[in-house]
Amino acid sequence: MHGPVLPNGALSEASVLLLHAVSDVDCDVLRAARIRPSHANWLHAPWYPAHRGGAITVGRTIWFTPGWFDPMGLGDGSLRSTHAWLLHLAHEVGHLAQARRFGPGLLGKARYVAAFTRQYAWRALLLRWPVHDGSPLEQEAEEGRQVLLRITAELGEQHPLILAVHEGDAGGVCQWCTLHATKLAR
Ligand SMILES: [Zn+2]
Repeated sequence: MHGPVLPNGALSEASVLLLHAVSDVDCDVLRAARIRPSHANWLHAPWYPAHRGGAITVGRTIWFTPGWFDPMGLGDGSLRSTHAWLLHLAHEVGHLAQARRFGPGLLGKARYVAAFTRQYAWRALLLRWPVHDGSPLEQEAEEGRQVLLRITAELGEQHPLILAVHEGDAGGVCQWCTLHATKLAR
């Protein structure tokens, strides 16, 4: 079985190429990323309200809530789960690039969390909703997911890109991206 994430938690090469195409995050950053099942407490930090469907990115690690690994649920290895994973990843990898921008190591992580906290706090004070999805860092990360949503709007999980990642066919992803480079640029 293939799918978007390898057994060691790394993104498959086909996933790397697709996520790079939709989010513009460097391939090297994507290759260094690790996907891990989170423990619930991660998602209960007061500055981090329930993130759409449950994932949080810290440094180079993207933590997904246990439901994403459930063999009876989103971890069932189906084409549908590959599509759901890729949409979610297309958002989370945006945070990988942001985390890098804030600098490596603990200081960078602290700065990154502080920036998030500030953005949420201000929006909460101004009673703007949604506090989380409305922050500039969130909107920036969301762009990749929106691109993938638009691309797969008609065909859904049957889209050739989703099929290629599902089959572990990096060449197929590469080919589609080359053929549709102008569409992607828009
Ligand atoms: Zn986010």
